[in-house]
Amino acid sequence: MILKHGAPDLMFKAGVKDNRCFRCGNREKDLFYTYYSSYDETDITYCLHCIALGRSDSLNPLYGYETVRQRDNIDYALDFELNDVQQAASTRLLDAIKNNHNLLLYAVTGAGKTEITFEGIKYARNSGLNVAFVSPRIDVVKEVYLRLADAFKGVRIDLMYSGVKSVFSHMFTVCTVHQLFNCIDHYDVIIIDEVDAFPLPEEPLLMETVKRAAAEDASIILMTATPTAEMKLLAGKDNVVTIARRYHGYDLALPKVIWQNSSKYIKKKRIPPKLTELLDNIIKAGRKVLVFFPDITMMKTAAEILKKKYSRLESVYSGDAGRYEKVQLMRDGELDILLTTTILERGVTFLYLDVIVIDAHRFDSASLIQICGRVGRKPKDPTGNISLITDFNTSGIRGTLAAISQFNKGRTAL
Ligand SMILES: [Zn+2]
Repeated sequence: MILKHGAPDLMFKAGVKDNRCFRCGNREKDLFYTYYSSYDETDITYCLHCIALGRSDSLNPLYGYETVRQRDNIDYALDFELNDVQQAASTRLLDAIKNNHNLLLYAVTGAGKTEITFEGIKYARNSGLNVAFVSPRIDVVKEVYLRLADAFKGVRIDLMYSGVKSVFSHMFTVCTVHQLFNCIDHYDVIIIDEVDAFPLPEEPLLMETVKRAAAEDASIILMTATPTAEMKLLAGKDNVVTIARRYHGYDLALPKVIWQNSSKYIKKKRIPPKLTELLDNIIKAGRKVLVFFPDITMMKTAAEILKKKYSRLESVYSGDAGRYEKVQLMRDGELDILLTTTILERGVTFLYLDVIVIDAHRFDSASLIQICGRVGRKPKDPTGNISLITDFNTSGIRGTLAAISQFNKGRTAL
């Protein structure tokens, strides 16, 4: 079913009862708030977990409508052919959907994961199955939507994320995970891109949300470059497909570790000398660079000092209203240097790109692997330079170097 404000059918007499939210499935006591309403002359409890979608409370009913399934007749076109490894993965994914089981697609960054799902999506929609392509990150969701819309020309695809108001059919959806709060036993295929970007430790309920939105015989397809034991468990040990090489066949670029205490310089409003050297070389070579920072404050200070020397430079972070425009400027070649937090660690592709990570010891290896994965994504620029500036050697850094070397030898950690 789909819960929807203003829909005709009464689904639940109240959104919240006995510390349980019927909209998002929340049962965590701490995630409810109760107050006395003098207007209604009663205590009202509401759910904090799904408050971003409007209030689900103990007073007001939830409305919605029953799940509808409709066969479509869709097809897609790609401007390249899947290579043998991608083709084999595509077939496994299609089989998972046909046989109603889950699948873990463990693929290096730049393996062409999205395209591997197209055949499965086509089969599902043409069999009348409801499909959701979800990601924890809004930027990834938008990028995936563009790629799907480009391949499945003329096909109705609902793009949903916080703040978009429109009428949706919920049959072929691209959305953030939080949008699934309103769906119960509805989607027959749920593809989760960048599943490692789930804030899982902080929000274990998100995976519950996916399971709850999934219909009884659904296939959940997990896609990641850094799988966890939980993901393997959810997929089942026989349902793991591995792709250790990028679709263009070149090795992943191996990061260089550069020893310097950047924060010491930035605090004194000076550019770390090794950073200047790297930036000058990148610009001289006619390339572009993403510089990753562990926090916004440090990035803003660095932006201030770097702008005095480099004019074609901008910075972005999650709360930055102009971030999509700045990313576009970078894409259009109007910028040489884009400073960023982890917000751009995944989902973005730029040509002729190098990356630099400041204080690399403050990033975990899942994050560093994604950041390294921004480089060399296109056949005409299949490699690049990755510099991790740090003054500590951490397990995150060692793990990243080891994982990338293993991938290049055709091996993976599972
Ligand atoms: Zn809730």
